[in-house]
Amino acid sequence: MTAIATTNPATGRVEKTFDAHPPEEVDRRIRRAATAFASYRTTRVAERAAWMNAAADILDGEAERIGALLTTEMGKTLKAAEAEARKCANACRYYAGHAEGFLADRPADAAAVGASGAYVRYQPLGPVLAVMPWNFPLWQVIRFAAPGLMAGNVGLLKHSSNVPQTALFLEELFRRAGFPEGVFQTLLIGSGDVERVLRDPRVRAATLTGSEPAGRSVAAIAGDEIKPTVLELGGSDAFVVMPSADVGAAAEAAATSRCLNNGQSCISAKRFIVDTGVADEFERLFVEAMRARRVGDPMDEATDVGPLATEQGRADVEEFVADAAGKGAAVLCGGERPDGPGWYYPPTVVSGVTPDMRMFHEEVFGPVASLFRVRGVSKAVEVANATGFGLGSNAWTREPDERERFVRELDAGQVFINGMTTSYPELPFGGVKRSGYGRELSEQGMHAFCNVKTVWIA
Ligand code: NAP
Repeated sequence: MTAIATTNPATGRVEKTFDAHPPEEVDRRIRRAATAFASYRTTRVAERAAWMNAAADILDGEAERIGALLTTEMGKTLKAAEAEARKCANACRYYAGHAEGFLADRPADAAAVGASGAYVRYQPLGPVLAVMPWNFPLWQVIRFAAPGLMAGNVGLLKHSSNVPQTALFLEELFRRAGFPEGVFQTLLIGSGDVERVLRDPRVRAATLTGSEPAGRSVAAIAGDEIKPTVLELGGSDAFVVMPSADVGAAAEAAATSRCLNNGQSCISAKRFIVDTGVADEFERLFVEAMRARRVGDPMDEATDVGPLATEQGRADVEEFVADAAGKGAAVLCGGERPDGPGWYYPPTVVSGVTPDMRMFHEEVFGPVASLFRVRGVSKAVEVANATGFGLGSNAWTREPDERERFVRELDAGQVFINGMTTSYPELPFGGVKRSGYGRELSEQGMHAFCNVKTVWIA
């Protein structure tokens, strides 16, 4: 089992360790969640909204302090960490403002079903287990907790073992915001203890954001227990550039997307598929933009790319690049870890990636881009879809017909045209194929953990 500890990725030093909650404490917390749910579900949406807005105020007001905590635990730049806190505040406010409407009874055509009245009511399910990753350690949790708590569910968080202080902060956040005792709790447990929690009959559903193996395990256990799950898994998203595109803007967005969160974002573009008509120009501008990213201390305002979150994570990225280079790919920039402490890895572009190379099929969780040259839309779509993943594709074109084909044919949960894939509270977020199932955010994210109850009245 992974040790539960804060290890600063910029130095490699273990800063704080935590004892896992023993089984009795986990049980006590589940009991508290079940008890809290019984009364919390009866609270008015307006009351929940006041608490959720208070959580938003804390996130905004303390963004600097919270940001420093995130940076220390997982290495994202301080400016990105502060922006994450503010993005979370925005999502809390969004759900505080929209929950009443999203949860309102939906009238149905009563006459058509021989009733005097028929409607749909949205009710909470109960305690939901959230298994979450370290890469956006606040956002991934808030993305579940804001709609989940507003719907009347209560949350049990099992966070990544390398972000325990962020996990404890999240419990404190909801308590300080005024939510009743037990509505949101953190379980300090390793992944080996997830099964017991998931099988507990008091836990009614689970959401997992993370890797494919973790998703497979949680989904299998939840399936055995007939409990609903939402899975947000990996991505190896395509970024297609056609000749009509603004190539300069595309190259800049490509570098921003690939280096987002030090290259560790599920929705960042990872495979760059460029029409031969603009391939030379795009490659030159993209490599320039990747080289221009400043790698360094994540606490420094001038830094664009901090260290990778774990030593193993960097070793994995190095193996991907070595595998591709060993099989004939060209490394156009980066590709060498710098000397010194910290798990740094530079923005890297690899061209000539072929199906025998691991990075063709697998997700590279670091600032490494693979570049493909294709001719025409059909070939671009074919290469884009030649992956087991399907999270958030990008296509750059100014031709309406091409745009329509990308929207229709890209096999992904999201398609962004002439812009970088981002998550917004207003839009559903999720994947197809091995990127997972179910949707977070928007109205759908709230209904994912509701009992959609049909009411029929004679
Ligand atoms: P991970 O190893 O799967 O860990 C994610 C969470 O799952 C952690 O809390 C981890 O706990 C737990 N876990 C791991 N194995 C488990 C198992 N067999 N059973 C139950 N729980 C288990 O993933 P990661 O390395 O932290 O995150 C990177 C992955 O997440 C990438 O693939 C990325 O694309 C994906 N991701 C997806 C999205 C999305 O929205 N689709 C967003 C962000 C990241 P421990 O830390 O204790 O092992």
